[in-house]
Amino acid sequence: MPKRIQTIRGFRDILPQEAQKWWYVERTARDVFSLFGFREVKLPILEQTALFARSIGETTDIVEKEMYSFQDKGGDNVSLRPEATASIVRMFIQHSLYQQPLAAKLFTIGPMFRRERPQKGRYRQFYQIDAEMFGFERPLADAEMIFMLTTILNQLKVAEYDLHLNSLGCPQCRQAFKEALKRFLEDKHQKLCPDCQRRRLLNPLRVFDCKSEGCKEVLKEAPLITQYLCQDCKTHFESLKGYLEAFGIAYLLDPYLVRGLDYYTRTIFEVTIPGIGAQSAVAGGGRYDNLIEVLGGRSTPAIGFAIGMDRLLPCVPDPDKEARPIFLALLGEEAVKIGLKWVQFLRKVGIWTEIDYRLGSLKSQLNRANHLKAKFCLIIGEDEIKKGKAILRDMDTKEQLNVALEPNSEIIEKLKGGKN
Ligand code: ATP
Ligand code: MG
Repeated sequence: MPKRIQTIRGFRDILPQEAQKWWYVERTARDVFSLFGFREVKLPILEQTALFARSIGETTDIVEKEMYSFQDKGGDNVSLRPEATASIVRMFIQHSLYQQPLAAKLFTIGPMFRRERPQKGRYRQFYQIDAEMFGFERPLADAEMIFMLTTILNQLKVAEYDLHLNSLGCPQCRQAFKEALKRFLEDKHQKLCPDCQRRRLLNPLRVFDCKSEGCKEVLKEAPLITQYLCQDCKTHFESLKGYLEAFGIAYLLDPYLVRGLDYYTRTIFEVTIPGIGAQSAVAGGGRYDNLIEVLGGRSTPAIGFAIGMDRLLPCVPDPDKEARPIFLALLGEEAVKIGLKWVQFLRKVGIWTEIDYRLGSLKSQLNRANHLKAKFCLIIGEDEIKKGKAILRDMDTKEQLNVALEPNSEIIEKLKGGKN
């Protein structure tokens, strides 16, 4: 027998049972986005490597170690996207979307790729729901984004989550903070992990993102960005907090939060869910007022977030109402012909309809109906044709009704209205 081919490490299949929940989560997010006036965009999965190197930052883990980068057959340096913000910004600039008022609020849903060590909640292909808002500098935009994120989580009935909030300041105040941090870390070199020993010199803020206990211990005494915010950044952060309070959104101030991408300015936030294991961050985001300019566009403030669907899904309770089909049990060729009219009719009015393609015995067809968790079964056999009446069986109560043999709208209400 030929050797079977399996998925690549860190990649996985989403099987039908699970995929249904993915669809539900996406649909819920899409509904919320439309309430907030966000419009969907679809982006390429492959981009020039330079796009990510320039936006996310050369000395971040993502760009240094995690990207799927390669030269294609024409010699171009390309990468599978590790996140969506850079691509949306590229699109925004490439198509001069500044000029279109409806382009200010965008979202996209799709797979991202990072070559990380696979473990629970960490895959090499994972899915994000990503939203970005362009053109607004004031903290009301930040509050609205966070409100939208929590609305999605609440709509999905995620029971318990924490919203961590911090400000990274602007390049000016951050520079002063970076200097102070560098000075602080100077004599701690030996206590840092090898990664942070490098980070200390190249990109000291990244040290805050380190998960090693030793580094965390060192940082307990470290200067904090919030002590270095300039007046404008401080005011911005204070107003945001005020708006969140007005929205009734609880947050945790976390001066250690830095996040893994270099492009953030001012507001950053992360949502974690307690008790789901080491990978507890289900969403993260922040403001990036300089990124559009860095990528060659006209200076435009912006803010966004990404929800990690793979981690969020296990925390989303199953939707109350599971869709259930109507099953047509058809016995004999004549019944099949009438049944096909029913199939067309029912699907046209939006009712999920199933038939048994094997046309087995009544018993096997009813078994099949049970297997599919059908709510109703419409039975048509020789007897029914003779009497000119079909049987509608409620699969839960086993109650049977005679109904007209040919499709008619009389029973639609019954089928649709039947309590699931
Ligand atoms: P983490 O700290 O968990 O590595 P991150 O800061 O690298 O996350 P972001 O780039 O902010 O993650 O992406 C936003 C969200 O995408 C994360 O909060 C997480 O839910 C999800 N995510 C990121 N990387 C992965 C991955 N490898 N597998 C599954 N989900 C991921
Ligand atoms: Mg990461």
